[in-house]
Order: sequence, then structure tokens, then C-alpha cells
Amino acid sequence: MSESEYSSLNQSNYHSHQSPKVMLVILDGLNLQTAMHAMGYLHALCANSADNPKATQASFHSLVSELPSLSRPLYETLLTGKKPIESGIIHNDISRLSNQISLFHLAKRAGLTTGAAAYHWISELYNKTPFDPLTDRVTHDLDMVIEHGLFYSADHYPDDHLFYDAHAIITEYQPNFMLVHSMNIDDSGHRFGSESPEYRNAARRTDGFLSLVLPKWIEMGYQIMVTSDHGMNRDHSHGGRLKEEREVPLFLIGSQFNHHAECQIAQTQIAGTLASLLRLDHNKTICREMLLETTGVQG
Ligand SMILES: [Zn+2]
Repeated sequence: MSESEYSSLNQSNYHSHQSPKVMLVILDGLNLQTAMHAMGYLHALCANSADNPKATQASFHSLVSELPSLSRPLYETLLTGKKPIESGIIHNDISRLSNQISLFHLAKRAGLTTGAAAYHWISELYNKTPFDPLTDRVTHDLDMVIEHGLFYSADHYPDDHLFYDAHAIITEYQPNFMLVHSMNIDDSGHRFGSESPEYRNAARRTDGFLSLVLPKWIEMGYQIMVTSDHGMNRDHSHGGRLKEEREVPLFLIGSQFNHHAECQIAQTQIAGTLASLLRLDHNKTICREMLLETTGVQG
């Protein structure tokens, strides 16, 4: 199928009478510097979109993570719009259910379907904690906030396997809101540091794996944000205020985004903006300029 056919499918799948499909892809630990050069497939989508208005629309932006620049606190920020200091999830070792309203909660409340292929901390924040791999790794439970989940707990769980897990959920259940969350880039950064070939190659590999699945997800009508929770520093870590720890990429893919280059979003506006894209009632802050007028934004 050609790009323009993808695009028209994409458009036709988003008519107002149809239920919206929105996906958040978190590439854990990918800093902006590396994303600017290593993500060849994602940048090809953006370049093609700029050259050809009939192609799948995509654009590249950046944003600055909240503090501390740590994973579990920022999963909560991305999914609820609250800063770590507000949510109370201020450390990776805080293992309790979120007490905020997440995108999963909002979608469920509206009768939409939710799914995730993600690190087990996501299950701990929104489904149940502590995570028990014997019962929670594969979740299909309509009473859970994340109804359809495949959760992994090893940081080296291969990103391609993770994307295939996500694809299995997406094709079987077509969640209206789907979270896809990979860990290998962060894992390489902790082992080798942000200035290493290993870290950069992990990013390149993950970009390549994405090219095997993302065209299918675009074809299915998903509006997609690809971003990162935080970056990575030369000391093999993150948590503080260094540029390379806080500056992260944001790729927007789909016909319902305004792809203007100057759009500047805060990390606390991601959840609200995705909630508006899902046409959910909510009171979260959003980045209105990032959405087309025709999206019928709320919030
Ligand atoms: Zn990390």
C-alpha cells in the first residue's frame, strides 16, 4: 500500500462517528541529541510528509521533561499530566497505585478500550501492585484500568518482541488508547552511557524495529505520539537537570495533529492533548496548537 493510500485510510478512519484511536509510544531513556540523528525511519516519515501533503503527516518536535528526570515519576506525568512533585510519584521505588486520573481512567470512563505493552511499573501504577509476573504479565480483564496488557520486567526484554506484543494486542482488541513502551535504549544508556556507540546503536535498532510495525498501526487509523520519559547522561544515568537528561524528542504522526514546526508542548500537556484527541471530557491542560481545529478539542 502506498503512503498516500495509508494517508487516505488514516483520514477515513477518523470520521467523527467512529471511535478514535490514539497511541502513545514511549522510548524509554532516549535523549533529544540522539533522537535527532539516530531515528532514520521516524525522520523519513517527517521528511516525506513535508515533501508530499498526501503522505502520512508526521513532524518532529522536542520537549523538556519534568523533574526528577526518572522513569516511574515521568510515566505518571505523561499519563496523567501531573508533575512528579504533585503526583507524589517522585522516585522509582515508590510502588503504589497512582491516585491521579490517567488517560486509561478517562478512556475507560467513556466506554473506550484501553491497552498497553509496557514495563511492569505501568501495571503497578494503574492496574495492581506489586507486579506478579505469574498472574499479571498477560492481562485481559475488563475490570482493570488497563484492560489488555502485556507487561515485561527485564530491562533487556527485546524491543522488537515488545513491539510484536503490542501488535498482538492492537490487532486483537483495537484499543482506543494504546500505550507502547520500550526499554532497550535506556538499558544501553545505563550500561554504556549516552556518548557510547552502544547507546546510539540501541536507538538505531529500536527505530528499525518501529519501521516494521508503525506502518501497520498508521494504516489502522492510529494517531501516534512517539516520545521519551527522560534522556540519558554520560555518567550512565539520569535524574537531574542536565540538558541531555531532560530534553527528549516528540514525533507526531497522523492527520489530526497540527504539524507546525513551532508547536511547543510541555510534558504535562501530553496527557490532556491525547485526551482531547480521544474526544474525552477532562480538565487537564492541553497544547491546543498541536491539534487541528477540526479535532473538536475539549479541555
Ligand atoms: Zn533509566
